[in-house]
Amino acid sequence: MTTTTDLPAPLVAPDADRVKYADTVIRSINLPIDGIAVQDPATAETIAHVPDADVDSALIAVSKADAAGSDWARSSLRRRADVLHAWYDKLVAHTEELAHLISREMGKPLAEARGEVKYGTDFVRWYAEEAVRPAGNFRDTADGGASLLTRRSPVGLAVLITPWNFPLAMATRKIAPALAAGCPVVIKPATLTPLTTYFAVQLAIEAGVPQDLIQVITTSRSGAFSEAVLLDPKVRKVSFTGSTPVGRHLLNLAARNVLRSSMELGGNAPLIVFDDADLQRAVEGTFAAKLRNGGQSCIGANRIYVQDGIADDFAAALTERFAEVAVGSGLGQQTGLGALIDDRAVAQMQSYTDNAVDLGANLLTGGHGYESPGNFFAPTVLDNVSENSDVARSEIFGPIAAIQRFRTEDEAVTRANATEFGLAGYVFTENLDRALNVADRLETGIVGINQGVPSNAGAPFGGIKQSGLGREGSAEGLEEYENIRFYNVARRATS
Ligand code: NAD
Repeated sequence: MTTTTDLPAPLVAPDADRVKYADTVIRSINLPIDGIAVQDPATAETIAHVPDADVDSALIAVSKADAAGSDWARSSLRRRADVLHAWYDKLVAHTEELAHLISREMGKPLAEARGEVKYGTDFVRWYAEEAVRPAGNFRDTADGGASLLTRRSPVGLAVLITPWNFPLAMATRKIAPALAAGCPVVIKPATLTPLTTYFAVQLAIEAGVPQDLIQVITTSRSGAFSEAVLLDPKVRKVSFTGSTPVGRHLLNLAARNVLRSSMELGGNAPLIVFDDADLQRAVEGTFAAKLRNGGQSCIGANRIYVQDGIADDFAAALTERFAEVAVGSGLGQQTGLGALIDDRAVAQMQSYTDNAVDLGANLLTGGHGYESPGNFFAPTVLDNVSENSDVARSEIFGPIAAIQRFRTEDEAVTRANATEFGLAGYVFTENLDRALNVADRLETGIVGINQGVPSNAGAPFGGIKQSGLGREGSAEGLEEYENIRFYNVARRATS
């Protein structure tokens, strides 16, 4: 086991110009001088403070959003679309500012942060385009005695609660469909990464979103916040992205006023590589599905099942890819893997690694932290991981690739489905028939076939089993913020 005295220093230091630029962006946000401290996970420096709202101010925010909401609900679809297009243009024009901010507060490499800006802004553009295409239809009853007119209306005030791992995309994936549907919102970002939300909402207001329509609340008392706000009768909807235990708790609260609820919860994604996979494609896909966002993604490859015939070559090639990744500040020039979100995450990665090795896994690369005030852990590959290891049973949320081996297709599918989670799964094979059959049998809402990054603004992202309720992105994501109603119009009977 590695001890703290022989840990290497992180390889890549922050680039001074990039840090300066990020801090200029932070200074352009209207923030208080005290409140909740926000830290850079790569340096442990405090970089800003955000308001620590109490319950009363949260309820005032609900009232303000509600008051702004009635005009918005009556606004034309074209107006909503125009405002969303203007917000999209602003966000795109501020790509560099947003990317530096994301990297500074969350730790991911700048190149990945730019990727998040692209992904996050895609939702705003997609819903700007979708806003003017309301669903609804007109049909006759079977007996001809009436016509049925189905209509959509905004569900009402939506409370949006987002996690720290994609500070922009998790916010826009909720705000954009809510606005397109005609709903006001109160958004509570994670206190670890609130700056991107404040900045993005500031741009929304500059783009023409009515002043009070989007309310941002940051608070260190998230339990008290949800207990007060979700019971306020003005609130009609809750959309949450985060862990399954918190999601269960919020569903309980939502039950009291029977709120429409969308839950994007935890994952434990299986990734299956068959003997007939293209080795390079499988390695690159696994690399992306595992190391993107430092492994801190709900669809990150968690349990990597590799068929016996290809397993040695796959493990060697993946290890080579992981070993060449430069670890360091997200604002460093060559960084491939940034800091994890906090020191608990680093301790958790060490514990997963040590436990897996104790239970017989081979540590092929990494497996250690670094002597640094930041939260770094090396890209790690473990082979022959026991099914009883903690790393094989938990959502890892860090840069550890845990390989298990299998013999038959049935065995792989059975083991992949042996979890209460069902968000994403991955299949690598050159046999189309097998790819589709295995995808059909996987109990997940999302399947990446021969690729490791399946998300897209036009896709209905979401899980089954205990990974969640509802979908985000695409037309289905808009429906989450709409009521479906019908009018029954009596007709003269035709003989
Ligand atoms: P978390 O559940 O601890 O926190 C998520 C958010 O909920 C934060 O803003 C937090 O402040 C808030 N929160 C916590 N308790 C609350 C309460 N009682 N009332 C109101 N708000 C509360 O999760 P996290 O650690 O920030 O994120 C990691 C988890 O999120 C992982 O399990 C991951 O899989 C999941 N996640 C899921 C998706 C998805 O789309 N399915 C996307 C990203 C992350």
